[in-house]
Amino acid sequence: MLYSSAPWRLAAGLVWLAACGGSAAPPSPAPATVPPGAAVSTSELRSIVGVLAADSVEGRRTGTPGSARAARFLAGLMASYGLVPAGDSGYFQRVDYEVVRGAEGEEVRLPGATTADSVIGRINDVNVIGVVHGTDPSLRTEAVVLGAHFDHLGIGPPVAGDSVYNGADDDASGVAAVLAAARSLALSPARRSVVVLLTSGEEQGVLGTQWYLERPALPLSRTVADLQVEMVGRPDSLAGGVGRLWLTGYERSTMGESFARAGLDVVPDARPEFNFFERSDNIVFALKGIPAHTLSSFGMHTDYHQPSDEVERIDFDHLARAADVVSRAARVLADGDAPVWHPGGRPLPASP
Ligand SMILES: [Zn+2]
Repeated sequence: MLYSSAPWRLAAGLVWLAACGGSAAPPSPAPATVPPGAAVSTSELRSIVGVLAADSVEGRRTGTPGSARAARFLAGLMASYGLVPAGDSGYFQRVDYEVVRGAEGEEVRLPGATTADSVIGRINDVNVIGVVHGTDPSLRTEAVVLGAHFDHLGIGPPVAGDSVYNGADDDASGVAAVLAAARSLALSPARRSVVVLLTSGEEQGVLGTQWYLERPALPLSRTVADLQVEMVGRPDSLAGGVGRLWLTGYERSTMGESFARAGLDVVPDARPEFNFFERSDNIVFALKGIPAHTLSSFGMHTDYHQPSDEVERIDFDHLARAADVVSRAARVLADGDAPVWHPGGRPLPASP
């Protein structure tokens, strides 16, 4: 989860001069009964978050060896679940980043997003991408993107003697939930294809997702929805507690309503003043016109973006139930009617 929505706002005028795509798909039959969701056990979720948030992975900062280790681990899980590789080298989609001298020190950007003379270096990282192809002859060429970011803040200023910003909740929890849904879909594919997109560069301004939109695994013109998962490792009392998630920008499209109709424990974001709709990877898809939201249960805990965002503070009973909700939500999108924006719900790029 981004600290604020400022980075994409700054980039918006340069990157998205015109929003396009995302035309409403033709109506499709209502979903069948939602089958059981997550196919990953609580102990496996614990293992995934434990690996990603270990001190040895050094906070998964984009461009670091720790991030590369995390990416290899995630690709191995995708392979073991039977996802079809959809990067440019197996599951890896190489992302080129530039390091620039910004107002607050060194910052990471995508090439072309800054003036050349401020570039002081280059780094590489990857997005990790796998696909579960759909089963319906007429719908399998359509895609739902299910995503989470695996990067976090890396090594930083020590707090109480701890300098590793582990990011167990932000967003190892979301990655684990997405992988649980991916495994469920691989075991029993949906009607549409599902692109499982685990990105780098989110904390620097949703950069990995911006890169993906220029090089999508399946065409954006056939991408009917994007669902991101961010910070689902602890229950939020304002969402109703254990097992319940909130959806950013709930009222903007029909996506949240479709989850409610399917009986999922998903409610509107109770804190719209924090603009969470603009603070995760979904905003990149939304600005392209594709209905895109984020599921979360971030309850404003004080470990946000601190070294204390540790695996010991994850509530794995909650995360297991959250993973089940994510799995079912992905299936609602991949089997049911494509979501559409409500009038005025689609965001427009900020003016340059
Ligand atoms: Zn974050």
